Amino acid sequence: MRKTISLGFLLAFALPASAQVLQRVSIRTPNAPQIAHQLQSDGYDVLEGSIEKGSFQLVVSPESMTELMALGFRPRVLETGRPFYEIEAERMRDAEGASPDAPPAGYPDLANVIAQMQTAAANFPSICQFVDLTATYGMPKTFGNRSLYAVKISDNVNVDEDEQAVLIVSAHHCRETVTPVTALHAMDQFTQLYGVDPMITNLVDTHEIWIAPVWNPDGYNYVWVGNNLWRKNRHAFANGIGVDLNRNYDFGWSAPCRGSSNVSSETYRGPSPASEVETQTMKVWSEDVRFSKVLDFHSFGRETLWEYGCDPHPLSNYLQNEAISLSQAAGYGSKNRPPSADGEHFEWQLNAYGAYSFLMEISTAFQPPFSSAQAEAAQVFPAIVQLINQPVPISGHVTDALTGLPVEATITTRGLNFQRSEVNRS
Ligand SMILES: [Zn+2]
Repeated sequence: MRKTISLGFLLAFALPASAQVLQRVSIRTPNAPQIAHQLQSDGYDVLEGSIEKGSFQLVVSPESMTELMALGFRPRVLETGRPFYEIEAERMRDAEGASPDAPPAGYPDLANVIAQMQTAAANFPSICQFVDLTATYGMPKTFGNRSLYAVKISDNVNVDEDEQAVLIVSAHHCRETVTPVTALHAMDQFTQLYGVDPMITNLVDTHEIWIAPVWNPDGYNYVWVGNNLWRKNRHAFANGIGVDLNRNYDFGWSAPCRGSSNVSSETYRGPSPASEVETQTMKVWSEDVRFSKVLDFHSFGRETLWEYGCDPHPLSNYLQNEAISLSQAAGYGSKNRPPSADGEHFEWQLNAYGAYSFLMEISTAFQPPFSSAQAEAAQVFPAIVQLINQPVPISGHVTDALTGLPVEATITTRGLNFQRSEVNRS
């Protein structure tokens, strides 16, 4: 017995630093929303979609658990993070037991996500292209030596046409596995219904639709092999692992509601603005393509986020109304809110390019049963269609009067007081 105990002790110390323990916990307390937001601004990983009048959830490390106890909270453990492969295997086993003839398909792992994108490009070569963004833009690979990929869907897909570009991106936060399912569903709809559904056909003919289902591939892989509650990328620093990729963008990186500057925090903003390869690749890609519309999928909460976390935007009312109509299209009632922090990807697209850019929190969990994820993807698709269909308030061409060639243009609007160095440009 003694031997077993001491062996267990040794094993605990021999665990690699990469095997972080994370737990999802619930705290019951009066004034839950107020306390939750205070903890959030202190760098705790509060799950926004879980906040109710008398309770909220967080994901905690052993250290943050100890801190919360010291503050007088008594967190109840709901789930201990473990490999998502394990969880999926159990779900498949249970489902097989219930219905041996038709075991359901499960969530796609990273290799499967990429394979689905390549298959779409192979099956629909005239309208769908698989693009290795890392190679295309000569960017470094991620810390885990991975590339970033997207599909481009458009008529004459091999030509850079004079059409509005739209970006659908998901899984900046890798544990939100329900979001790539939604992005891949959209990819399938746009490719499979082209030439079948006149409305979809028209959207594909008149836009360049880019879909990037997993923007945090290192983290997404780690969710499967290591810890299903992991949120950040896997960049290893001396004092901890991972940057919150949705706090790493330049805009708002130093704002009062920025991400944490503590590397062990689940909302660590990184050592400098756009320090991460994933962020840098998004910047180079966006500078080239100039997305006029952006929808960034996260989970969970079933609501649409608009504007900035703690900065004003002169088109606040307009952005909120658009967020409400996107929520309605997704069947989320009119639920909307400004984001909880700055340094987020969709805010940067709004700030740096004047893009029609929103973040949509989907589902009621990070990893609901796969059938629920599929249902959510179908439910949300009308919001993607609406985003693309919505007319842009100002659009057109600015050309050189002498040569007739297009020139880069900055748009200024009388009476609108942009205060955060917004650039509204072509
Ligand atoms: Zn997220």
